[in-house]
Amino acid sequence: MTGLSALLDDASTPAALFQPDTAATLLCMWANRSFAAMIGSNASTAIGRSPRELFPKGQADLVLESLQAAQTRRQPIRQRFHTAADRQQPYEIAVEPLEGNDGRVCLLVLFHPSPLAERSAPGGDASERSYKKLVEQFPDSVLIVEDDIISFANPACASLLAATTTDQIVGRSLFDFILPMQHPELRHRLRALRGDKEPLLGFETSIIRFDGTPRIAELSGFVSEGSRNRALQLMIRDVTEQRTTQEEHNRFFTMTLDLLAVYDFDGKVVALNPAWTNKFGFSLEELSQRKFAAIVHPDDVQAGQTAALLLGKGVPIVNLELRHLTAGGEYRLIRWSSSALTEHKKIYAIGTDITEMREQQDLLQKSEKLSIVGQLAAGLAHEIRNPLTSLKGFLQLFRKRFGHDPSYADYFRIMDTEFVRIEEIVNEFLILAKPQPRNFQPHDMSELVPDIVKLLEPQALLGSVEMTVDIEPDLAPVNCDENQLKQVFVNLIKNGIEAMPQGGSLNVKVTRRSEDYIAVTVADQGQGIPQEQLNRLGEPFMTTKVNGTGLGLMICYKIMEAHQGRLHFESRLGQGTTAEVLLPIAHETTS
Ligand code: ADP
Ligand code: MG
Repeated sequence: MTGLSALLDDASTPAALFQPDTAATLLCMWANRSFAAMIGSNASTAIGRSPRELFPKGQADLVLESLQAAQTRRQPIRQRFHTAADRQQPYEIAVEPLEGNDGRVCLLVLFHPSPLAERSAPGGDASERSYKKLVEQFPDSVLIVEDDIISFANPACASLLAATTTDQIVGRSLFDFILPMQHPELRHRLRALRGDKEPLLGFETSIIRFDGTPRIAELSGFVSEGSRNRALQLMIRDVTEQRTTQEEHNRFFTMTLDLLAVYDFDGKVVALNPAWTNKFGFSLEELSQRKFAAIVHPDDVQAGQTAALLLGKGVPIVNLELRHLTAGGEYRLIRWSSSALTEHKKIYAIGTDITEMREQQDLLQKSEKLSIVGQLAAGLAHEIRNPLTSLKGFLQLFRKRFGHDPSYADYFRIMDTEFVRIEEIVNEFLILAKPQPRNFQPHDMSELVPDIVKLLEPQALLGSVEMTVDIEPDLAPVNCDENQLKQVFVNLIKNGIEAMPQGGSLNVKVTRRSEDYIAVTVADQGQGIPQEQLNRLGEPFMTTKVNGTGLGLMICYKIMEAHQGRLHFESRLGQGTTAEVLLPIAHETTS
């Protein structure tokens, strides 16, 4: 058996063991570091792979040819061999068949950096000793097990099992070091290995070390050549670190409420965590198949695509806000941070749902503004009212004196209408200033709402607007200040009519929205409200109308706040706007 001793002389010699599996495919059982370095990988990934998976095509053919030749002829084979990386320095490939009792052959492959024609070493009986000596130097743990008793262990094995010397291990049962729970399966696997039914490759098990600490290990093995009682040669690899970090990653990936996603540079989904399903109600498969444009709000698609483009160039993206569609047809506002690994051509993204947070912020902002304006309005309204009263008084006087003169008639008319307008504004201010609704009573919306609609009928007629009312029967009453609530509906319906200068239809609906709420919706077919304006509704003096005050909605919000209700708008440009008022139902109290 030439070659073995040469390997022992030179630890930097790339070496690997191959054995046929049940399908007669030659698979790597073990490889040393030099071997791994030669093929540009690490030793553990080589295990369980065929030469075709380990070498480029031309080389794989040569290696396979050598292995098969050695296997069928049961003779050492030597051949010239170039690795792709180093064409200048040829290797010599040497294959040693190691024959077992069963006739199955295990093949030791060595790649010598220089031709070794003149370096042949003595073989024969020395081989077993040489082999053990070789194994002593293995970085991986190696055990020989006969009838479950360990007859040999290398130093790497001692350190893996936290033993001081290999003597502590030899003579003990292999199962002393295996978690009892896993004994039956390992027994089964070893039996299958001995009977040549199934190779043992990367079998994962928990081992218990001398100090009692558990480790996760991978066992690979084969039946030792030349042994009387089917001795087993086992290799143990400690994969604890690998498994625990992987486990931790998995746990974070599945447990976090944030959305995690990995994309490739073509925008295809590589991985999504389960938070996606919880959040959007689509299955992960469905989500991975959908186009980006189909899961994002149409107005946000452009921003998302621009971000993807930048990511592809290695620019990280932070705090990108996109509205994502849910299975229920709603949009959730997701804030994304992502970066790309250009060498892997992958984009990693983390998304947080900020829908509620944003709503809260907006509400807070709005109510802060409201209270400030409310205070201001209270002061202002009184300041304006007093001089206004004296002005009106003087106007009466003037009218008495000059009212009969037709050349003044126009002036009086204009002054009258201007006074009316000032009073209107001041009155609106005063409503704002009123701190709390005073007169809370249960009222039936199915009566109150039609009254208001009737009230506005003349104005609707003028604007060629047709109004319809839908009322759900048997609605529970709402606790409210009737006059204030009327004010809200008047404002909303007026806005609806004013949004349709060419006429159209306006629908007012009263329904039970949930256990606790009655909803009143006012839907028009007007011009709609642009997005940036939608967020500003209710701001004082925000108006797009020539004669508007921009106070109507502000008053509505204020009143809704006092009623612990909600006012909410949905709008589509050119199609119309729906205002929805939610009012808490007056639940009967026992008092
Ligand atoms: P005003 O009606 O005096 O302008 P509001 O506070 O009632 O003040 O409304 C503020 C602005 O909101 C309006 O000027 C208009 O631009 C917009 N708006 C409110 N309701 C609608 C609606 N139904 N359709 C379109 N725009 C609306
Ligand atoms: Mg208005």
